Amino acid sequence: MGVPVHAPTSGTIESVSLQPVPHPSGMSDWCITLKPDGKDEWAPLNPITNYRDLDRETVLEQIRDAGISGMGGAGFPTNIKLRPPRDRKVNTLILNGAECEPYITADDMSMRENAVEIIAGLRIMAWILRPERVVIGIEDNKPEAISALRKAAEGTQTEIAVIPTKYPSGGEKQLIQILTGMEVPSGGIPADIGVMCQNVGTAIAVSAAIHRGEPLISRVTTVTGYAVTDPGNFEVLIGTPIDYLLSQAGQENSKLHRLVLGGPMMGYTLETPAVPVVKTTNCVIAATATELPDPAPEQPCIRCSMCAEACPMELLPQQLFWYSKAGEFDKAEHLNLFDCIECGACSYVCPSSIPLVQYYRAPKARYGYNRLNS
Ligand code: SF4
Ligand code: SF4
Repeated sequence: MGVPVHAPTSGTIESVSLQPVPHPSGMSDWCITLKPDGKDEWAPLNPITNYRDLDRETVLEQIRDAGISGMGGAGFPTNIKLRPPRDRKVNTLILNGAECEPYITADDMSMRENAVEIIAGLRIMAWILRPERVVIGIEDNKPEAISALRKAAEGTQTEIAVIPTKYPSGGEKQLIQILTGMEVPSGGIPADIGVMCQNVGTAIAVSAAIHRGEPLISRVTTVTGYAVTDPGNFEVLIGTPIDYLLSQAGQENSKLHRLVLGGPMMGYTLETPAVPVVKTTNCVIAATATELPDPAPEQPCIRCSMCAEACPMELLPQQLFWYSKAGEFDKAEHLNLFDCIECGACSYVCPSSIPLVQYYRAPKARYGYNRLNS
């Protein structure tokens, strides 16, 4: 389930050791520390001149060797995702251009500036999967990206579907429902209904891997928040320390109150900026105290059911909360805990300030791990 790791620049490996990594738990993991030599020398590259002349396995191997994993959320290896089981033919290939949270503009910027490469990567994935329909779902608040993609997609039979900007329409399951009218079954995956979603950054990486032979060594990351003087989108080498990235964006230490990785709804607070940018790091928010104040103290649940009304997955967040808190994960699973997309809408509306989504994350990680290994 892994993909190869590439040095993002030339230099010397100094250590292989446990270091803090970006994860809600604040855990450490094995990391390779590279000291750059400043030369930024590349190994020889092996682009594919005409991938259509090759068999699909060879192209998938090149995608694997380039170290490409999904850059939207879960970081699943792309070459594995592009090999759905034989009994689950992909009829619809969706490119997710619907960045669903405020603050994050990394995909928007990539679509504006790299539309040709996105279409090139999408065409490679479509050639591998042979779907009947290829569609890019993009929110209507991104007019420049829509126009750039429409131009780049001319003559390719790629459909550009403009959808209303409404959180969380960029969630995979929500986007599939909007674009196809079909629902991913509970506990299932999009391939169960003949659909596959890919991310904008992943399409760029696939194009670079095939057409230029380049491995995935960088990504576009939004650095924003009122505690930086120069917010923007940066093309960042994978492995770059987040504190270095913040210094490039003009971090003002006196104003910094909270550092959030990801968006304000689905992101999590970073305990330390001494963690590296990874392939899924789409946004870093350096927030002031007025921008993202500390949550109010948690109060008892008043059974108002506002969380259930807000849940886009039609779950019962209040009951999931009780069971997760009590450690009764089998009961939470029975109420479809694993369908929770961790959108944070329930926590946002809860008048008792219960951080509901945090109660689900730990059991999902732990219980999901146990399920995988049982
Ligand atoms: S919104 Fe909060 S207080 Fe209301 S039912 Fe849900 S968990 Fe309880
Ligand atoms: S985070 Fe809350 S609102 Fe969002 S899907 Fe999960 S239970 Fe529903």
